[in-house]
Amino acid sequence: MSDPTPADQNPIRNPETEVTREYLLDWNTEQLAEWLVAKGFPKFRASQIQKWVFQRRASRFDQMTDLPKDLRLLLDQNFDLFRTSTAAHQQAADGTEKLLLQLADGGRIECVLLRDGPRRSICVSSQVGCAMGCVFCASGLDGVERNLTRGEILEQMLKLQHLLEVDERLSHIVMMGMGEPLANLPRVLSALSVAKDSTIGLGISPRRITISTVGLPPAIDKLAAADAPYHLAISLHAPNDPLRNRLVPVNQTIGIESILDAADRYFEKTKRRLTFEYVLLGGLNDSVQCARELVQLLRRRTAMLNVIPYNPVPGLPYETPTPSAVLQFRRTLLDGGINAMFRQRKGDEIQAACGQLRRLRERQPQVVSIQPSKSS
Ligand code: SAH
Repeated sequence: MSDPTPADQNPIRNPETEVTREYLLDWNTEQLAEWLVAKGFPKFRASQIQKWVFQRRASRFDQMTDLPKDLRLLLDQNFDLFRTSTAAHQQAADGTEKLLLQLADGGRIECVLLRDGPRRSICVSSQVGCAMGCVFCASGLDGVERNLTRGEILEQMLKLQHLLEVDERLSHIVMMGMGEPLANLPRVLSALSVAKDSTIGLGISPRRITISTVGLPPAIDKLAAADAPYHLAISLHAPNDPLRNRLVPVNQTIGIESILDAADRYFEKTKRRLTFEYVLLGGLNDSVQCARELVQLLRRRTAMLNVIPYNPVPGLPYETPTPSAVLQFRRTLLDGGINAMFRQRKGDEIQAACGQLRRLRERQPQVVSIQPSKSS
C-alpha cells in the first residue's frame, strides 16, 4: 500500500466535473475554430488567438486583451498554452543561448538560439533521444524515448522566440536538435507549416527552414512531395559505405547510393540545392583520401558540402581534427571543384552540439551564464 497523502495536499477531486486540459499548440487553426464555434464564439477568434501566440509572443491567455474576457477565462480553464518547464538556460559570450526543456512526462529536450549578424537561427529537436545511433553523437546514447508532438516542437520555437529582444525576429530554423526529423515527419511538417505561415504563424520562408536527416530515402521522397520545399541537409559523414556503416550504423541497411539517389530526386522535384553535412572526426574521416572520394561522389551534384569540426562529447573516444588535417581536407575539396563551407563551431562552451547538455544536467532548474573562453 502506498503512503496516504496528507489531507491538505489532497484536494477533493470529482471526476465528473474535472476537465481534461488540452495542449493548445497541438491544435491547428481549424480544430481551434471548430471548438470555439461549439462553445458559441465566432470562428475568427481562432486565428486571433494563434496570432497572439506566434506573432505577439503571448505566454498567457490573459495577455490576449482584444479577446472577450469570458473567452480568455474559458481558454484558461481548458487549455495549457505551454507545457514545458526550463530545466537549464545557458548563455554563451557569442550570443548563443541554449534551453534544456522538461516535458510534461519528464522527458528532456534541447533547443538553441544562434545569433549571427542579422540572423536569428534556432535549432530545434524532433524526438526525445534518437534511434539512429551515430557513434559520435550524444543524442542517441540512450536510444529514443518517443516522438515529440507538433506542440512540443512549436513550443521550442516559441520559448526561443521569447528570449529575443523586441526588435529581434527569428529568421531561420534548422531541425538539427535531438532526434531524426524524418522519423517523425508528420509532426515535424505540421509544426513547420505554422513556422512558415505568415498569416497566423512565425512567417519564416521555407527557404530558411532546414530539415537535417541521417538519410532515410522513403521519407526524403515524402518530404519532396510536401506542400513546401524546405531546405534539405543530409548528414553524410563518410564517402564510402564501410566507413559510414561504422560511424552511422543505420547506413548498413540503407547505403550511400540509395541516399544520393533520393537526394537527386529531391533536387529534381524541388529544384532546391541541398546540403551535405560532414562532421570531421580526427583520424577517422578526415584523410585526403576521404576528401578525394567525396569529390567523386559530389562533383556532378548541385549541392553544397558543410564541413563541421567535431565537437567532442565527454566520454566518447572521438576527437576534433588537427588544423593541418582540416587544411588538407579543405584544399583537396576545393581543388576538386566542390562547393564546400567550413563551419566554425558556435556555442562550444555551452555544449551546444546535439544532446550534450541533456547528459550533463541534473534535474533541477538553473540559469547559467558562461564567460568567453580564451580559445573562442
Ligand atoms: N538526425 C538528424 C538531425 C540531428 S543532428 C541528422 O542526422 O542530420 C544534426 C547534425 O549534428 C548531424 O549532422 C549530426 O551528425 C551532427 N552532430 C551530432 N553530434 C555532433 C558533435 N558532437 N559535433 C558535431 N556535429 C555533431
